[in-house]
Order: sequence, then C-alpha cells, then structure tokens
Amino acid sequence: MMRMKKPLISTKQLKLSVPAQETPITNFLTASGTFQDGDLLLNMKGLRLISEEKETRSSDVKELDFEFLLEDLETIKVIGKGSGGVVQLVRHKWVGRLFALKVIQMNIQEEVRKQIVQELKINQAAQCSHVVVCHHSFYHNGAISLVLEYMDRGSLADVIRQVKTILEPYLAVVCKQVLLGLVYLHNERHVIHRDIKPSNLLVNQKGEVKITDFGVSAMLGSSMGQRDTFVGTYNYMSPERISGSTYDYSSDIWSLGLVILECAIGRFPYIQSEDQQSWPSFYELLDAIVGKPPPSAPPDQFSPEFCSFISSCIQKDPRDRMSSSELLSHPFIKKFEDKDIDLAILVGSLEAPVNFSR
Ligand code: ATP
Ligand code: MG
Repeated sequence: MMRMKKPLISTKQLKLSVPAQETPITNFLTASGTFQDGDLLLNMKGLRLISEEKETRSSDVKELDFEFLLEDLETIKVIGKGSGGVVQLVRHKWVGRLFALKVIQMNIQEEVRKQIVQELKINQAAQCSHVVVCHHSFYHNGAISLVLEYMDRGSLADVIRQVKTILEPYLAVVCKQVLLGLVYLHNERHVIHRDIKPSNLLVNQKGEVKITDFGVSAMLGSSMGQRDTFVGTYNYMSPERISGSTYDYSSDIWSLGLVILECAIGRFPYIQSEDQQSWPSFYELLDAIVGKPPPSAPPDQFSPEFCSFISSCIQKDPRDRMSSSELLSHPFIKKFEDKDIDLAILVGSLEAPVNFSR
C-alpha cells in the first residue's frame, strides 16, 4: 500500500531481458507482434505514424540520426525498480550514448491500450526541457520498452535520502523547473501528470530537474498491479483523487506542494516524525488527507514566501490552489530567481545513485 518498503532485490534476482508475455493479448496485436491503432503502429521497431513517411520523433531525437534498434542497446546496470518494471542504464553500441531503458510488462486490459498509445504519442512529441524525453518506445514479447533520456543523478527521492532536507534557495530552483514542466504538460499538452512524487522528479549533474512518468508508465504501473501486489504510493494523492472524485490539473499542484514540503522538513508531511515506526494504512491516510486540515510549513522555521507557496498548493478545495503558471510568478520563486543559485552544486556533492530508489 502506501510507500510500502520493497524487499531489497539483488540484481541477480532481476530479469533484465524483456520479460516474456504472460497473458495473451490477441485483440491487441497482430500475429506479427505489431499493434495497430488507426494510423499508429507499434512493434519491435518502435512507434510509427504510418500515415507519415517518417517516424514520430521528439525534438531531441532529431539529433539521433541513426536507426534505433532495441538490440543495439547494451545493459550497463540496473538503476531502478518501480512497481511497473525495471529501469536500466544502457549504452547504444554504435553511438556510445547513454539512455535509461524502462521495461514494463504489458499484460494490460484491452480498454487501457488506446490510452497507452495516446500517451506514447505525447511522450515522443514532448518538447520541453523540463520533461524527460522519451526517445523511442518498442513493443516486444509482451513488454513495452521506453528509451528515456538518462538523468545521471537519479530522482529527488535519491537526493533527499542523502541530504535529508533541501534549503529554500535550492527548493525554489527545483520548484521553478518542475513548474515549467507542469505548465507545459497542463497548458500545452493538456495532460494531468497524476503521479507527481519524489521518484518521478529526476535530476542530472547539470542541475536540471525534469518530470518523468506522466501517462504511459504511470498508467501501466497502476493498471497492471493486482490489488495485493500493488506497490505504488497514494501518499501524494490529492483529497479529491484519493476519495475517488473527479480531479483536474490542480491535483498535480497538491502533489507538488507535498513533495516540496517533504524536501523542506525532511519527512513525509503526514507522518509525525522521521522515527515513526509504521506508515499509516491506506484508510488512515485517506482519513488524514480528506478529513484533517492540510499540512503546512511551520512559520517559525521557514520564510513567509515559502509558507505562502506551500499553502497555495496544499489546499483541500482544488479551486483554492494556484495553477502551475500562477505559481511560476509566486514571490517564493521570484525571490531567488536572479540570485544565480546553481543546483549543480547541490547535486554535484552527492553520490551518484547506485541502488534502487525505494
Ligand atoms: P513507481 O513505479 O511505484 O511509480 P518509481 O517511480 O520509483 O516508482 P520507476 O519509474 O520504475 O519507479 O523508476 C525507478 C527508479 O529508476 C526511479 O526512482 C529513478 O531513480 C530511476 N529512473 C527512472 N527513470 C530514469 C531516468 N530516465 N534516468 C535515470 N534514472 C531513472
Ligand atoms: Mg517513476
């Protein structure tokens, strides 16, 4: 359930090859292992818009002027494991460039597939420097493989595991970059991320922060999971979402507020102390998120601008939350904008993530 600790898994236990298909998804595929939905074609060679001559490519992919084949990627190491699959650091054999390869077993229900193809399309068309680029996606042997931009400092979860808390100036820089990504997703792509959490905010050595796992991976993760094996987290879900009501872009803003508050105070805001032995059960969390006043930043420890930023995000009524574009001009973001704060200094002092992030 909530942020369940996974047993430590050794690399030996992990299957690094593309997993075999468990459930036949005959409606989904043709006999040749190709999935076609309208003018979209997805197979071992990747996702193509067959009505166009060229493959759909993101802006960044334009610089990859070589044919991208799954077999040309060699595994260097496993860098993460989520509820949906394994993430590996891979190198393109001929070009030498590094990528993160996320392999997701795809024994999904028929009704989810249209949505997935839609999301893949969005992924590959993403043109924002604060959204992780999905260079390519392949369907092979019952699994989807996403070739992602490699973020060499892992996730914000890895960062806070090492530093415990992040100071306001750095947080403002993190926030601004996430907000730029959210403005892009909300206003240009018209998608709700749905899974903003520390492990989905990735950082690199240059001090760039990028959003990942919107759409397809998040959706695959949750739609695949059986009730008793689901290991995702409800922790950052807004009150309207966790209680099953309709939700919109503002749901992502709640999650962002909780993530930033967690980075500032050094613990998940709905637990009392770092030493708390057991995490709240789903129902305890539901009760707290829906029934209790929302968490806030303690004014004796944080600046008024920071406290105001947090309360502009963590409001129980979605209508009381600021939008991603409004938050970009919030005094907390503005305060540090021309101070030349370099996040690379913070992430440069950290060890590169070597193990699974959870
Ligand atoms: P869940 O599956 O429950 O949402 P998660 O987000 O941790 O959890 P994944 O999305 O599978 O699961 O990612 C696992 C880990 O792999 C991440 O926490 C991150 O540390 C690492 N990771 C994912 N994508 C990349 C990437 N593009 N570059 C570098 N590391 C990555
Ligand atoms: Mg993730």
